[in-house]
Amino acid sequence: MRKTGNNPGKVKPDKVNNVDRMYDKLFKIIDDRREELAELTAELIRFPTINPPGDAYRPCAEYLGNRLAKRGFGVEYIRAEGTPGDTDRYPRINVVARFDGRVAGPTVHFNSHIDVVEAGEGWSVDPFAGTIRDGRVYGRGACDMKGGLAASIIAAEAFMDANPDFPGAIEISGTVDEESGGFGGVAYLAGKGYFSRPRVDHVIIPEPLNKDRICLGHRGVWWAEIETKGEIAHGSMPFLGDCAVRHMGAVLEAFERELFPALDRKTTRMPVVPEGARRSTMNINSIHGGQTDDFRPGLPSPNVPDSCRLTIDRRFLLEENIVDVKGEVTSILDRLKSERKKFDYEIRDIMEVQPLMTERDAPVASAIARGIREIFDKEPEYVISPGTYDQKHVARIGHLYDCIAYGPGILDLAHRPDEWVGIDDMVQSAKVMAIGLDILLRGQFSG
Ligand SMILES: [Zn+2]
Repeated sequence: MRKTGNNPGKVKPDKVNNVDRMYDKLFKIIDDRREELAELTAELIRFPTINPPGDAYRPCAEYLGNRLAKRGFGVEYIRAEGTPGDTDRYPRINVVARFDGRVAGPTVHFNSHIDVVEAGEGWSVDPFAGTIRDGRVYGRGACDMKGGLAASIIAAEAFMDANPDFPGAIEISGTVDEESGGFGGVAYLAGKGYFSRPRVDHVIIPEPLNKDRICLGHRGVWWAEIETKGEIAHGSMPFLGDCAVRHMGAVLEAFERELFPALDRKTTRMPVVPEGARRSTMNINSIHGGQTDDFRPGLPSPNVPDSCRLTIDRRFLLEENIVDVKGEVTSILDRLKSERKKFDYEIRDIMEVQPLMTERDAPVASAIARGIREIFDKEPEYVISPGTYDQKHVARIGHLYDCIAYGPGILDLAHRPDEWVGIDDMVQSAKVMAIGLDILLRGQFSG
Protein backbone atom coordinates (compact mmCIF):
# COMPACT_ATOMS: atom_id res chain seq x y z
CA MET A 1 0.00 0.00 0.00
CA ARG A 2 1.30 3.40 -0.92
CA LYS A 3 2.20 5.16 2.26
CA THR A 4 3.96 8.31 3.22
CA GLY A 5 4.30 7.45 6.86
CA ASN A 6 4.70 4.38 9.06
CA ASN A 7 4.13 0.69 8.48
CA PRO A 8 5.91 0.41 5.15
CA GLY A 9 5.59 -3.36 5.26
CA LYS A 10 1.87 -3.45 5.88
CA VAL A 11 -0.08 -4.20 2.73
CA LYS A 12 -3.78 -4.31 2.11
CA PRO A 13 -3.90 -7.05 -0.51
CA ASP A 14 -7.18 -5.98 -2.10
CA LYS A 15 -5.83 -2.59 -3.05
CA VAL A 16 -2.25 -3.22 -3.92
CA ASN A 17 -2.65 -3.47 -7.65
CA ASN A 18 -5.35 -1.14 -8.82
CA VAL A 19 -5.46 1.69 -6.32
CA ASP A 20 -1.75 2.08 -5.69
CA ARG A 21 -0.79 2.11 -9.33
CA MET A 22 -3.48 4.65 -10.05
CA TYR A 23 -2.26 7.01 -7.38
CA ASP A 24 1.48 6.51 -7.88
CA LYS A 25 1.52 9.02 -10.69
CA LEU A 26 -0.61 11.52 -8.81
CA PHE A 27 1.52 11.26 -5.66
CA LYS A 28 4.75 11.62 -7.60
CA ILE A 29 3.53 14.83 -9.22
CA ILE A 30 2.67 16.25 -5.80
CA ASP A 31 5.95 15.11 -4.22
CA ASP A 32 7.87 16.73 -7.07
CA ARG A 33 6.09 20.01 -6.34
CA ARG A 34 6.93 20.16 -2.65
CA GLU A 35 9.21 23.20 -3.07
CA GLU A 36 6.68 24.91 -5.28
CA LEU A 37 3.96 24.31 -2.69
CA ALA A 38 6.08 25.88 0.08
CA GLU A 39 7.04 28.82 -2.14
CA LEU A 40 3.43 29.40 -3.21
CA THR A 41 2.40 29.53 0.46
CA ALA A 42 5.21 31.98 1.22
CA GLU A 43 4.23 34.17 -1.74
CA LEU A 44 0.62 34.31 -0.53
CA ILE A 45 1.77 35.25 2.99
CA ARG A 46 3.77 38.15 1.52
CA PHE A 47 0.50 39.89 0.63
CA PRO A 48 -0.47 41.50 3.96
CA THR A 49 -4.20 40.89 3.52
CA ILE A 50 -5.03 42.12 7.00
CA ASN A 51 -8.71 42.38 7.89
CA PRO A 52 -9.75 44.85 9.12
CA PRO A 53 -9.30 47.01 7.13
CA GLY A 54 -8.96 44.62 4.16
CA ASP A 55 -5.49 45.44 2.88
CA ALA A 56 -3.86 44.07 -0.29
CA TYR A 57 -6.93 42.12 -1.37
CA ARG A 58 -6.59 43.13 -5.02
CA PRO A 59 -2.91 42.19 -5.54
CA CYS A 60 -3.40 38.90 -3.70
CA ALA A 61 -6.50 38.02 -5.75
CA GLU A 62 -4.68 38.98 -8.96
CA TYR A 63 -1.65 36.89 -8.05
CA LEU A 64 -3.92 33.88 -7.63
CA GLY A 65 -5.88 34.69 -10.78
CA ASN A 66 -2.72 35.08 -12.88
CA ARG A 67 -1.31 31.80 -11.66
CA LEU A 68 -4.49 29.87 -12.36
CA ALA A 69 -5.06 31.60 -15.71
CA LYS A 70 -1.64 30.29 -16.79
CA ARG A 71 -2.92 26.80 -16.05
CA GLY A 72 -5.92 27.35 -18.29
CA PHE A 73 -8.49 28.33 -15.65
CA GLY A 74 -11.09 30.91 -16.60
CA VAL A 75 -10.72 33.66 -14.01
CA GLU A 76 -13.26 36.16 -12.71
CA TYR A 77 -12.74 38.97 -10.24
CA ILE A 78 -15.84 39.93 -8.33
CA ARG A 79 -15.87 43.05 -6.19
CA ALA A 80 -18.46 42.92 -3.43
CA GLU A 81 -19.62 46.48 -3.86
CA GLY A 82 -21.53 47.99 -1.01
CA THR A 83 -20.66 45.31 1.53
CA PRO A 84 -19.25 46.33 4.93
CA GLY A 85 -15.82 47.93 4.55
CA ASP A 86 -15.88 48.08 0.74
CA THR A 87 -14.32 51.37 -0.42
CA ASP A 88 -12.10 52.37 -3.32
CA ARG A 89 -9.19 52.31 -0.88
CA TYR A 90 -10.15 48.84 0.41
CA PRO A 91 -12.13 47.13 -2.34
CA ARG A 92 -13.54 43.71 -1.47
CA ILE A 93 -12.05 41.77 -4.42
CA ASN A 94 -12.77 38.06 -4.74
CA VAL A 95 -11.31 35.73 -7.33
CA VAL A 96 -13.10 32.67 -8.74
CA ALA A 97 -11.27 30.38 -11.17
CA ARG A 98 -12.86 27.51 -13.08
CA PHE A 99 -11.44 24.76 -15.25
CA ASP A 100 -13.91 22.71 -17.27
CA GLY A 101 -12.88 19.18 -18.13
CA ARG A 102 -13.36 17.74 -21.61
CA VAL A 103 -16.69 16.17 -20.78
CA ALA A 104 -19.52 17.24 -18.55
CA GLY A 105 -19.67 16.10 -14.94
CA PRO A 106 -19.91 17.40 -11.40
CA THR A 107 -18.02 20.44 -10.12
CA VAL A 108 -15.76 20.42 -7.09
CA HIS A 109 -15.04 23.84 -5.58
CA PHE A 110 -12.15 24.64 -3.23
CA ASN A 111 -12.87 27.82 -1.32
CA SER A 112 -10.25 29.60 0.75
CA HIS A 113 -10.37 32.99 2.39
CA ILE A 114 -7.38 35.20 1.61
CA ASP A 115 -7.87 37.62 4.50
CA VAL A 116 -5.89 37.25 7.71
CA VAL A 117 -6.16 38.75 11.16
CA GLU A 118 -3.65 41.35 12.32
CA ALA A 119 -0.23 40.03 13.32
CA GLY A 120 -0.26 41.28 16.93
CA GLU A 121 2.79 41.12 19.20
CA GLY A 122 5.21 38.34 20.10
CA TRP A 123 6.61 37.27 16.72
CA SER A 124 10.19 36.01 16.33
CA VAL A 125 9.97 36.29 12.51
CA ASP A 126 8.54 38.97 10.23
CA PRO A 127 4.86 37.94 9.97
CA PHE A 128 4.66 38.93 6.31
CA ALA A 129 8.06 37.74 5.04
CA GLY A 130 6.92 34.20 4.26
CA THR A 131 9.93 32.60 5.94
CA ILE A 132 10.62 28.97 5.04
CA ARG A 133 12.61 27.19 7.73
CA ASP A 134 12.94 23.67 9.19
CA GLY A 135 10.17 22.20 7.08
CA ARG A 136 7.70 24.93 7.93
CA VAL A 137 6.40 28.11 6.35
CA TYR A 138 5.98 30.91 8.88
CA GLY A 139 3.78 33.96 8.71
CA ARG A 140 0.37 35.42 9.44
CA GLY A 141 -2.11 33.28 7.53
CA ALA A 142 0.31 30.35 7.07
CA CYS A 143 -2.07 27.95 8.76
CA ASP A 144 -5.27 30.03 8.54
CA MET A 145 -5.41 29.51 5.63
CA LYS A 146 -2.95 30.31 2.88
CA GLY A 147 -1.24 26.92 3.36
CA GLY A 148 -4.59 25.22 2.75
CA LEU A 149 -5.21 27.37 -0.31
CA ALA A 150 -1.77 26.51 -1.73
CA ALA A 151 -2.34 22.80 -1.03
CA SER A 152 -5.67 22.86 -2.86
CA ILE A 153 -4.07 24.54 -5.91
CA ILE A 154 -1.26 21.96 -6.08
CA ALA A 155 -3.82 19.15 -5.56
CA ALA A 156 -6.00 20.42 -8.40
CA GLU A 157 -3.10 20.98 -10.79
CA ALA A 158 -1.62 17.55 -10.04
CA PHE A 159 -4.99 15.90 -10.56
CA MET A 160 -5.39 17.70 -13.90
CA ASP A 161 -1.90 16.65 -15.01
CA ALA A 162 -2.46 13.03 -14.04
CA ASN A 163 -5.93 12.90 -15.62
CA PRO A 164 -6.02 15.26 -18.60
CA ASP A 165 -9.37 13.87 -19.77
CA PHE A 166 -11.15 14.18 -16.44
CA PRO A 167 -14.91 14.82 -16.50
CA GLY A 168 -16.58 17.69 -14.70
CA ALA A 169 -14.99 20.90 -13.49
CA ILE A 170 -12.73 22.24 -10.78
CA GLU A 171 -13.15 25.65 -9.20
CA ILE A 172 -10.77 27.44 -6.87
CA SER A 173 -11.77 30.65 -5.16
CA GLY A 174 -9.91 33.14 -3.01
CA THR A 175 -12.48 35.11 -1.04
CA VAL A 176 -12.29 37.96 1.41
CA ASP A 177 -13.63 39.00 4.79
CA GLU A 178 -14.09 35.55 6.32
CA GLU A 179 -12.52 36.83 9.51
CA SER A 180 -15.21 39.51 9.74
CA GLY A 181 -18.21 37.38 8.84
CA GLY A 182 -17.76 36.71 5.12
CA PHE A 183 -20.29 39.28 3.92
CA GLY A 184 -17.96 40.69 1.23
CA GLY A 185 -16.73 37.22 0.36
CA VAL A 186 -18.60 33.91 0.29
CA ALA A 187 -21.94 35.44 1.35
CA TYR A 188 -21.79 37.91 -1.54
CA LEU A 189 -20.76 35.27 -4.08
CA ALA A 190 -23.38 32.84 -2.79
CA GLY A 191 -25.97 35.56 -3.36
CA LYS A 192 -24.83 35.69 -6.99
CA GLY A 193 -25.15 31.93 -7.48
CA TYR A 194 -21.50 30.96 -7.21
CA PHE A 195 -22.20 28.41 -4.48
CA SER A 196 -25.33 26.73 -5.83
CA ARG A 197 -26.28 23.89 -8.11
CA PRO A 198 -26.02 23.40 -11.01
CA ARG A 199 -22.81 25.41 -11.05
CA VAL A 200 -21.22 23.62 -8.08
CA ASP A 201 -21.87 20.21 -6.50
CA HIS A 202 -19.23 19.73 -3.81
CA VAL A 203 -17.36 22.31 -1.72
CA ILE A 204 -14.15 21.82 0.27
CA ILE A 205 -12.96 24.67 2.50
CA PRO A 206 -9.27 24.12 3.44
CA GLU A 207 -9.54 25.78 6.87
CA PRO A 208 -6.93 24.61 9.41
CA LEU A 209 -8.73 21.68 11.00
CA ASN A 210 -5.68 19.36 10.91
CA LYS A 211 -4.71 17.04 8.07
CA ASP A 212 -6.45 13.91 9.35
CA ARG A 213 -9.72 15.49 10.46
CA ILE A 214 -12.88 16.34 8.56
CA CYS A 215 -14.88 19.27 9.83
CA LEU A 216 -18.56 18.69 9.12
CA GLY A 217 -19.91 22.04 10.26
CA HIS A 218 -20.31 24.31 13.24
CA ARG A 219 -22.57 25.22 16.15
CA GLY A 220 -25.25 27.87 15.78
CA VAL A 221 -24.85 31.48 16.89
CA TRP A 222 -27.19 34.01 18.41
CA TRP A 223 -25.80 37.42 19.24
CA ALA A 224 -28.12 39.83 20.97
CA GLU A 225 -28.08 43.04 22.93
CA ILE A 226 -30.14 43.32 26.09
CA GLU A 227 -30.86 46.76 27.46
CA THR A 228 -32.28 47.44 30.89
CA LYS A 229 -34.03 50.75 31.42
CA GLY A 230 -33.90 53.13 34.38
CA GLU A 231 -34.58 56.71 35.18
CA ILE A 232 -31.98 59.46 35.39
CA ALA A 233 -31.59 61.38 38.69
CA HIS A 234 -28.90 63.10 40.74
CA GLY A 235 -26.31 60.62 42.01
CA SER A 236 -26.68 61.94 45.54
CA MET A 237 -30.35 60.97 45.58
CA PRO A 238 -30.53 57.67 43.76
CA PHE A 239 -33.92 56.91 45.35
CA LEU A 240 -35.41 59.61 43.11
CA GLY A 241 -34.33 57.72 40.00
CA ASP A 242 -34.07 54.10 38.98
CA CYS A 243 -30.69 52.44 38.38
CA ALA A 244 -30.48 50.52 35.10
CA VAL A 245 -27.16 48.95 36.16
CA ARG A 246 -28.74 47.37 39.26
CA HIS A 247 -31.46 45.93 37.03
CA MET A 248 -28.76 44.44 34.81
CA GLY A 249 -27.12 43.04 37.93
CA ALA A 250 -30.33 41.14 38.58
CA VAL A 251 -30.24 39.83 35.01
CA LEU A 252 -26.67 38.59 35.43
CA GLU A 253 -27.48 37.00 38.75
CA ALA A 254 -30.39 35.11 37.20
CA PHE A 255 -28.14 33.99 34.33
CA GLU A 256 -25.57 32.70 36.82
CA ARG A 257 -28.15 30.89 38.90
CA GLU A 258 -30.33 29.40 36.17
CA LEU A 259 -29.10 29.84 32.62
CA PHE A 260 -25.41 28.93 32.75
CA PRO A 261 -25.99 25.68 34.69
CA ALA A 262 -28.79 24.76 32.25
CA LEU A 263 -26.51 25.37 29.25
CA ASP A 264 -23.76 23.28 30.82
CA ARG A 265 -26.14 20.34 31.09
CA LYS A 266 -26.99 20.26 27.37
CA THR A 267 -25.21 17.58 25.42
CA THR A 268 -25.03 16.93 21.70
CA ARG A 269 -24.32 14.35 19.05
CA MET A 270 -22.20 16.99 17.31
CA PRO A 271 -18.50 16.07 17.71
CA VAL A 272 -17.46 19.62 18.58
CA VAL A 273 -13.78 20.26 19.33
CA PRO A 274 -12.39 21.22 21.73
CA GLU A 275 -14.37 19.03 24.12
CA GLY A 276 -15.35 22.01 26.29
CA ALA A 277 -17.45 23.33 23.41
CA ARG A 278 -19.46 20.10 23.13
CA ARG A 279 -22.39 21.73 24.90
CA SER A 280 -24.24 25.01 24.78
CA THR A 281 -22.22 28.06 25.74
CA MET A 282 -22.83 31.74 26.23
CA ASN A 283 -20.30 34.53 26.45
CA ILE A 284 -21.05 37.94 27.87
CA ASN A 285 -19.22 40.03 25.27
CA SER A 286 -19.60 43.46 26.79
CA ILE A 287 -21.50 45.56 29.27
CA HIS A 288 -21.98 49.31 29.22
CA GLY A 289 -23.94 51.21 31.80
CA GLY A 290 -24.62 54.83 32.59
CA GLN A 291 -23.38 57.82 30.72
CA THR A 292 -20.03 57.96 28.97
CA ASP A 293 -17.36 55.44 29.97
CA ASP A 294 -14.70 57.84 28.78
CA PHE A 295 -14.54 60.36 31.62
CA ARG A 296 -10.79 60.42 32.33
CA PRO A 297 -9.10 62.77 33.25
CA GLY A 298 -12.31 64.30 34.57
CA LEU A 299 -14.86 62.73 36.87
CA PRO A 300 -17.49 60.10 36.07
CA SER A 301 -21.08 61.01 35.47
CA PRO A 302 -22.91 62.27 38.56
CA ASN A 303 -26.15 60.62 37.48
CA VAL A 304 -28.19 57.55 38.14
CA PRO A 305 -27.86 55.54 34.90
CA ASP A 306 -31.02 55.20 32.86
CA SER A 307 -29.63 52.58 30.49
CA CYS A 308 -27.42 49.50 30.69
CA ARG A 309 -26.57 47.39 27.65
CA LEU A 310 -25.23 43.86 27.61
CA THR A 311 -24.25 41.84 24.53
CA ILE A 312 -24.43 38.06 24.60
CA ASP A 313 -22.89 35.48 22.28
CA ARG A 314 -24.88 32.29 22.60
CA ARG A 315 -23.60 29.20 20.75
CA PHE A 316 -26.18 26.48 20.26
CA LEU A 317 -26.50 22.90 19.11
CA LEU A 318 -28.25 20.94 16.40
CA GLU A 319 -30.59 19.59 19.08
CA GLU A 320 -31.76 23.12 19.98
CA ASN A 321 -33.79 25.52 17.91
CA ILE A 322 -33.33 29.25 17.90
CA VAL A 323 -36.84 30.00 19.16
CA ASP A 324 -36.14 28.02 22.34
CA VAL A 325 -32.65 29.50 22.63
CA LYS A 326 -34.12 32.99 22.64
CA GLY A 327 -36.98 31.91 24.87
CA GLU A 328 -34.59 30.79 27.61
CA VAL A 329 -33.30 34.35 27.83
CA THR A 330 -36.55 36.22 27.39
CA SER A 331 -38.38 34.07 29.94
CA ILE A 332 -35.83 35.14 32.56
CA LEU A 333 -36.24 38.77 31.53
CA ASP A 334 -40.03 38.54 31.58
CA ARG A 335 -40.01 36.94 34.99
CA LEU A 336 -37.79 39.73 36.32
CA LYS A 337 -40.24 42.18 34.84
CA SER A 338 -43.05 40.69 36.86
CA GLU A 339 -41.00 40.31 40.05
CA ARG A 340 -38.85 43.40 40.16
CA LYS A 341 -40.21 46.88 40.63
CA LYS A 342 -39.84 49.18 37.59
CA PHE A 343 -37.83 46.54 35.69
CA ASP A 344 -38.08 46.99 31.93
CA TYR A 345 -35.95 45.76 29.07
CA GLU A 346 -35.47 45.64 25.34
CA ILE A 347 -33.72 42.92 23.40
CA ARG A 348 -32.29 43.28 19.90
CA ASP A 349 -30.96 40.53 17.66
CA ILE A 350 -27.52 41.23 16.23
CA MET A 351 -26.75 38.02 14.37
CA GLU A 352 -28.19 34.55 13.90
CA VAL A 353 -26.52 31.52 12.30
CA GLN A 354 -28.09 28.08 12.26
CA PRO A 355 -25.98 25.11 13.39
CA LEU A 356 -24.76 22.94 10.52
CA MET A 357 -23.59 19.38 10.22
CA THR A 358 -22.94 17.65 6.92
CA GLU A 359 -23.52 13.92 7.31
CA ARG A 360 -20.47 11.64 7.32
CA ASP A 361 -21.76 9.70 4.35
CA ALA A 362 -22.24 12.82 2.21
CA PRO A 363 -20.25 12.52 -1.04
CA VAL A 364 -17.60 15.12 -0.22
CA ALA A 365 -17.06 13.83 3.33
CA SER A 366 -16.71 10.22 2.20
CA ALA A 367 -14.35 11.15 -0.66
CA ILE A 368 -12.01 13.02 1.69
CA ALA A 369 -12.33 10.24 4.27
CA ARG A 370 -11.14 7.81 1.60
CA GLY A 371 -8.13 10.06 0.98
CA ILE A 372 -7.29 10.22 4.69
CA ARG A 373 -7.46 6.42 4.97
CA GLU A 374 -5.18 6.09 1.96
CA ILE A 375 -2.55 8.60 3.10
CA PHE A 376 -2.56 8.10 6.86
CA ASP A 377 -3.79 4.51 7.10
CA LYS A 378 -6.32 5.45 9.75
CA GLU A 379 -9.92 6.49 10.10
CA PRO A 380 -10.50 10.22 9.84
CA GLU A 381 -11.62 12.06 12.93
CA TYR A 382 -14.90 13.88 12.35
CA VAL A 383 -15.19 17.21 14.10
CA ILE A 384 -17.43 20.22 14.40
CA SER A 385 -15.98 23.69 14.76
CA PRO A 386 -16.90 25.60 17.93
CA GLY A 387 -17.18 28.81 15.88
CA THR A 388 -18.60 29.41 12.43
CA TYR A 389 -16.84 29.88 9.11
CA ASP A 390 -17.92 30.42 5.51
CA GLN A 391 -19.74 27.07 5.26
CA LYS A 392 -22.73 28.86 6.80
CA HIS A 393 -23.17 31.01 3.67
CA VAL A 394 -22.76 28.05 1.30
CA ALA A 395 -25.61 26.32 3.15
CA ARG A 396 -27.94 29.21 3.99
CA ILE A 397 -27.59 31.31 0.83
CA GLY A 398 -26.33 28.75 -1.70
CA HIS A 399 -28.55 25.91 -0.39
CA LEU A 400 -25.61 23.61 -1.00
CA TYR A 401 -25.08 21.11 1.79
CA ASP A 402 -22.34 18.88 0.40
CA CYS A 403 -19.65 20.96 2.02
CA ILE A 404 -16.90 20.32 4.56
CA ALA A 405 -13.77 21.97 5.87
CA TYR A 406 -10.56 20.04 5.35
CA GLY A 407 -7.05 21.47 5.40
CA PRO A 408 -3.48 20.97 6.58
CA GLY A 409 -3.05 23.71 9.19
CA ILE A 410 -3.04 22.98 12.91
CA LEU A 411 -6.11 24.61 14.43
CA ASP A 412 -4.39 25.77 17.63
CA LEU A 413 -1.87 27.88 15.67
CA ALA A 414 -4.51 30.04 13.99
CA HIS A 415 -4.36 33.76 14.89
CA ARG A 416 -1.28 33.21 17.16
CA PRO A 417 2.24 34.69 16.98
CA ASP A 418 4.75 32.65 14.93
CA GLU A 419 1.90 30.96 13.06
CA TRP A 420 3.23 28.26 10.74
CA VAL A 421 2.17 25.43 8.47
CA GLY A 422 4.17 22.23 8.02
CA ILE A 423 5.34 21.49 4.47
CA ASP A 424 4.88 17.73 4.95
CA ASP A 425 1.37 18.39 6.23
CA MET A 426 0.58 20.42 3.13
CA VAL A 427 1.99 17.72 0.82
CA GLN A 428 -0.03 15.01 2.57
CA SER A 429 -3.24 16.99 2.59
CA ALA A 430 -2.74 17.91 -1.08
CA LYS A 431 -2.69 14.16 -1.76
CA VAL A 432 -5.88 13.70 0.27
CA MET A 433 -7.54 16.50 -1.71
CA ALA A 434 -6.35 15.02 -5.02
CA ILE A 435 -7.82 11.64 -4.09
CA GLY A 436 -11.02 13.46 -3.13
CA LEU A 437 -11.10 15.02 -6.60
CA ASP A 438 -10.49 11.66 -8.19
CA ILE A 439 -13.40 10.06 -6.36
CA LEU A 440 -15.81 12.96 -6.80
CA LEU A 441 -15.03 13.59 -10.49
CA ARG A 442 -13.92 10.24 -11.85
CA GLY A 443 -15.85 8.09 -9.40
CA GLN A 444 -13.14 5.48 -9.48
CA PHE A 445 -14.34 3.53 -6.51
CA SER A 446 -16.44 3.97 -3.45
CA GLY A 447 -14.79 4.25 -0.11
ZN1 LIG B 1 -9.78 30.77 8.57
